[in-house]
Amino acid sequence: MPPEVIQSVSVTPIPSSYQKELGKNAYADNRGTQWLEWVVRAKSTGGAEGITIANRFMRQGTVAELLEYLKGALLGREVGSLLEVTDGVVTGPGPEMSRWYRRNGWLSILAFDLVGKVRGASAIDLLGGRKHDSVPAYDTTLYFQDFLVPERGALQVADEAAGAVADGWKELKIKTGRGGRWMMPEAGMRRDIEVVLAVRDAVGPDVTIYVDGNFGYDDHLDLLDRFIQEVTSADIFWLEEMITHDVDGYKAIREMQAKHGSKALLTCGEVDRNPISEVFQDLIDDRLIDGYQPDVVGHGFLGWMEIERQLKGTGVRSIPHNFGNGSFGTCASVVFGAASETYVTLEDERILPHFLTTQPEFKDGAYVLPTGPGLGVDIDEAEFAPHAKHEFRVEA
Ligand SMILES: [Mg+2]
Repeated sequence: MPPEVIQSVSVTPIPSSYQKELGKNAYADNRGTQWLEWVVRAKSTGGAEGITIANRFMRQGTVAELLEYLKGALLGREVGSLLEVTDGVVTGPGPEMSRWYRRNGWLSILAFDLVGKVRGASAIDLLGGRKHDSVPAYDTTLYFQDFLVPERGALQVADEAAGAVADGWKELKIKTGRGGRWMMPEAGMRRDIEVVLAVRDAVGPDVTIYVDGNFGYDDHLDLLDRFIQEVTSADIFWLEEMITHDVDGYKAIREMQAKHGSKALLTCGEVDRNPISEVFQDLIDDRLIDGYQPDVVGHGFLGWMEIERQLKGTGVRSIPHNFGNGSFGTCASVVFGAASETYVTLEDERILPHFLTTQPEFKDGAYVLPTGPGLGVDIDEAEFAPHAKHEFRVEA
């Protein structure tokens, strides 16, 4: 690799818009119609550019802190020293880089992008090569839409599910756990059931349905038991975070499933900030979960490579969380999913296209793999221009 050096880094918040208003989930109020992607760009002396988003950092950080961090991590550094690459495959962080990636895994995605672009190699190949010809995705925008249009109630969620299917989606996730906060527990459970059954009715038998409780059934295992009993006929592919991760709780769910004949996978882990932490390891060792879900951008490609090394042989599959990562998250997920043996499906917010040159093509319920170097996508300068007034940059 020629000695390319990173000569500038910048941070720009860019709003990304949903196709509709998103309502509540079990713990948080209405999500609304748009969110920010904190876009990080790093340019090398030869003109190559790596990108990522720093949304995880900016949950609590400031722009000043982020720029300071990026300066230390990237500015003046040789691109070739960002990652350890052997026979065209990344084997770990470059020398002195692990401390920069440790709590900020999202930065490693920029490294894969930039190293790939400088070497003329796809990030999929840097991750070990493609394992799938396309990456299936699910619509993750079925929030508590019944609260937004109370007169339609459960039918509002069903209508939106049918709309997603008409748009070409073959997999959907339904938010549940209404009784955790926004309704009385039993009434919430009943509405959850009504919604799930109405969605199944609206989309027919061939669409894959996932259910996410966001811990909304904590302290209400009796209600969860009834929920599982009633929705088993709707053929749910996975049950996510119905309660907070806990060995006894998950044992109880497995028993409910056995009693009611539910074949749904159990998944969790999006809240694990230091994967694989102890309780999740226990759930994995005791075979109480089937899918593990730390965030794909938050932990980044290096973080997820390490997670998959640890999951090997456990039977637990990779289902990275991606909500809140916007259009960049979709691109990053397609790349990671393409190279991951046990990847299940991509959590897609269906962000309207904006600051990236191309969104991956969505065909037959799955994304076509990118072909260009790095992530296979660049910043569209014309679309970026209006946001440049909020860009902050440091140069070597
Ligand atoms: Mg979730």
